[in-house]
Amino acid sequence: MTAAAPLTTDPADLLHRVFGFGQFRPGQEEIVRAVIGGQDVLAIMPTGGGKSLCYQLPALARSGLTVVISPLIALMRDQVGAMQQAGVPAASLTSGNTPEENDIVFDALSDQRLKLLYIAPERLASGATTGLLRRAGCSMIAVDEAHCVSQWGHDFRPDYLRIGELRQALDVPLAAFTATADAATRTEIVQRLFDGREPASFLRGFDRPNIRLAFAVKDSPRKQIMAFAAARRGQSGIVYCATRARTETLARALADAGHPARAYHGGLEDWERRTVEGLFQTEDGLIVCATVAFGMGVDKPDVRWVAHADLPKSIEAYYQEIGRAGRDGLPADTLTLFGPDDIRLRRAQIDESNAPADRREADHGRLNALLGLAEAPTCRRRMLLAYFGEISDPCGNCDLCETPARLFDATEPVRKALSAMLRTGESFGTNHLIDILTGNPTDKVRQRGHDLLPTFAVGQNLKRPAWQAVFRQMMGRDLVRPDRDRYGALRMTEAARPILRGEASIDFRADSVERATSRPEPRALVSDDDAPMLAALKAHRRELAQAAKVPPYVIFNDRSLIEMAERRPTSLDDFATITGVGATKLERFGPSFLAVITGQEEPAAHPARIKLAASGHGTLYERLHAAEQELTRGPDGAQKPLSLTTTQRARLVSQRPKDAQAMTRLIGNRATERFGAAFLEILSER
Ligand code: ADP
Ligand code: ZN
Repeated sequence: MTAAAPLTTDPADLLHRVFGFGQFRPGQEEIVRAVIGGQDVLAIMPTGGGKSLCYQLPALARSGLTVVISPLIALMRDQVGAMQQAGVPAASLTSGNTPEENDIVFDALSDQRLKLLYIAPERLASGATTGLLRRAGCSMIAVDEAHCVSQWGHDFRPDYLRIGELRQALDVPLAAFTATADAATRTEIVQRLFDGREPASFLRGFDRPNIRLAFAVKDSPRKQIMAFAAARRGQSGIVYCATRARTETLARALADAGHPARAYHGGLEDWERRTVEGLFQTEDGLIVCATVAFGMGVDKPDVRWVAHADLPKSIEAYYQEIGRAGRDGLPADTLTLFGPDDIRLRRAQIDESNAPADRREADHGRLNALLGLAEAPTCRRRMLLAYFGEISDPCGNCDLCETPARLFDATEPVRKALSAMLRTGESFGTNHLIDILTGNPTDKVRQRGHDLLPTFAVGQNLKRPAWQAVFRQMMGRDLVRPDRDRYGALRMTEAARPILRGEASIDFRADSVERATSRPEPRALVSDDDAPMLAALKAHRRELAQAAKVPPYVIFNDRSLIEMAERRPTSLDDFATITGVGATKLERFGPSFLAVITGQEEPAAHPARIKLAASGHGTLYERLHAAEQELTRGPDGAQKPLSLTTTQRARLVSQRPKDAQAMTRLIGNRATERFGAAFLEILSER
C-alpha cells in the first residue's frame, strides 16, 4: 500500500498505463469523464460491461480517497487484489478482515495513503465510519450494485438506505452502478441515493454479443446437459437447476464422467458454500451445478458456458443467469432447456407465493415473456433485446439464426383463438379458452353458456398441446397479454388487430417439439497451432496466482493470454502492447511470461535493458536479475554458478519479501545465502 503519486490524470493514459487496456469499452469514457468531473452519476450497464473501471479509473485521476460500497465480500477482495497487482493503493474493510488487517488499513487511511477503499454496507451502521472517511480525505462515493437500495428488488440490503446520509454528511459526489435497469428501480435509486435530484444518467445497451443463445425442448435433461458439458471439457461452466436434488444428481453425474464438478444450493452450510465459491473462482475448468443461490457473488470473468437444466423463473432471471458467462468478452455458450413440467412448476411457484396479487400478475407476465423467447420464431437475441426496449438486427449468434425454425401459417388458429377470447369478454385464461376451442364441455364452460358460442369446438383439428403452443407463441409475439388486474385473463393487443381483420397473416414455429438436440461444436478460443502455447501460459499464470494467493484472472485475464499466444511478443516493448498489460504488470509479470513465450530462460533480446537495470533504472525484475548475474559465482567469482528460475524471480517481485526468512520461503536456503543481502537492499529501495 504505497502511495504512488499518479503519473497522469488523463483518462486515456491511465487506461493504458494502469489497466493496460487499449480502448474504453462502449460507454465507459463518457461515464469516466462525468465521474472525474465531480458529477453525480447513475450508470446502468450490462454485466461484464466494465463498470468497475468507471469508478476505479476516476479514483486515480481525482485527488483524495474514493470509497466503494459493495455488497459482496469475495468480490471486494478480488477487486482489491486486482488493483494492488496493478500497483494501485487499495484496501477493504469487511467483516472478513482480521484485526491486524484492519489496523493496517486504518493506518493507511489516517496517513491518507489510499486511493480506493472498499467497504461493506454493514460498516455504514457504525457512526464512526463517516468521521473515518472524512479524516481519510474521502472525495467521492461509488456504489456498486446500486439496485440493492430498492425495497422491491430481489437483492434489497437495508444498510444501503444509509448511503444517502453518508453522501450528505461528506458532501461529495456519488456515482451509482447497476445492471438492473427497469424504470421503477431507477426511480428508487435516484430517490434514495441522490435525494431525488437527477444525476447524470448513462444507460448502456443490454446486448452481450459474445454470448450465444440457444434453447432446446427438454427431452432427457441429464443426457442433454452431459452432452453439452462433454463438448466443453475443461471449460468453466454453471448448470442452473430448479431444485437442490437436481444440483446434487447432476454434479455427481458430471463427476462420474470425469469433469471437476460441485453442487451448490441454499441447503449447504455456509462454509460449504464458501468453499465451492472459492474453488470456482480459483480453479480452471470447474463446473458448478447450482440453484439460483449461486449468483451475485460470481465475479469470474472466464465462465465459458451456462446451461439451464430447468427453465428460469422469468426473462429477467434468464438474462441475469446467462449473463454470468463471458464477462471477459470472449465467446461463451448457453443452453436453456424447457418443457411443460417447467412451466407448471414456475406457474405454481408464482401462484403459491405470498406476494400481492399485482406482483404475482407481473411475475406471470415475466414468465410469459421467457416462454415467448423459448418459442421464438426468429432471432432470439432480437426478441430478448426488444423486451428491454432495444431494436436490433438478427444477431447471427443464436440457434435460430444458425438453423432457422420451420414455420407454418398460423393465421387461421390465431384468428380462432382471438375470436374465442373476444366472445368471452377477454376474461379467461388459456385453459378455459382451449376448452372452448376444442369443444370440451367442462362445468365452467356449460355454466357460462360457452358451449353455445359459434367458436365452440371450431379448433378440433388441433390437440390440446398444440393449442398450448399456439397460445404460448401468441404471448411471445405479443398478440395477447395476460391482464394485470384479472389473473390469467388474456387480452388482445393492437398488434393482433390486423390478423383478426384478415389484413395480415402470421407464421408460428412448427418444430419446437421435434427439435433435436444437435448442437454445433463450441468454437475454440485459439487455433490449434496456438493451443499448446495458451496452455503453457495458463499453467504459468496458475503458478503465479497460487503463489500470490489470488484468482488467476487477477494476474492476467484469458483475453490477455490469448493475445500473447497469438501475437507471441518477443520483447518487453512488444509485451507492453498486449491488452491488460499496464506498467506495473509489465514490471511484475512481463519477464516471466516472455520467458514462457520465447522458451528462453530470460528475455535475451534485452542486453541494453539489463545494463540499464544494473545502473538502477530498469524494472524491479531486471534489477534483481542484474544483481543475481553479478553474484552468480559468489562475491569472489570463485564459486559454483547459481541462478534462479524466472518464476522464482517473478515471485520475489510480486511478494517483495522483507527479510531473509521470507525470502528463504520463496527461493530456498542456498539462493538466499548467495543473493539475499543484495536482493533485500534492492527491494527496500521502493
Ligand atoms: P461489470 O460491469 O460486470 O462489473 P467488470 O467491471 O467486472 O464488469 O468488467 C468485466 C471485465 O471486462 C473485466 O475482466 C475487466 O477487466 C474487463 N474490462 C473492463 N474495461 C475494459 C476495457 N476498456 N478494455 C478491456 N477490458 C476491459
Ligand atoms: Zn440471432
